[in-house]
Amino acid sequence: MAKRKTLFPCGHKGYGKACHRCTQELAAQQQYVQVMAEKKSKKQEKEASFDRDIINLRGLPDHVVVKARAIIAALGENKNYRDFGGKRLRHNRFIVSIPIGRNYRMLCEDCGTFLIPQKVLSHEDYNVCKPGS
Ligand SMILES: [Zn+2]
Repeated sequence: MAKRKTLFPCGHKGYGKACHRCTQELAAQQQYVQVMAEKKSKKQEKEASFDRDIINLRGLPDHVVVKARAIIAALGENKNYRDFGGKRLRHNRFIVSIPIGRNYRMLCEDCGTFLIPQKVLSHEDYNVCKPGS
């Protein structure tokens, strides 16, 4: 008995009960939807993690965000800023500048017994903030 191609409702022709082309397309589509959903939830997760930061770390390179969070956490445990290479600004002794990588600095306000992180600046921003330049 010769196999007969079936004309499926979708307009494709093929063997079997269901159209293979459409089944495959549907599976690919479902996978795409799933991948997109995962991407979206990762993005939302990332966004939510920025909401939890006490200072704005959005738009910074990932490694800077990671390091900044580690420093913020350490400062929260009353670790010494000098452990991270932090220094007081010469023109404002109440501001401590902690290097993050080569191109970023975190500025913190010294409140006597603890430091409050204020913001992370790139090296360029930081230099603009220096008086006399
Ligand atoms: Zn089909």
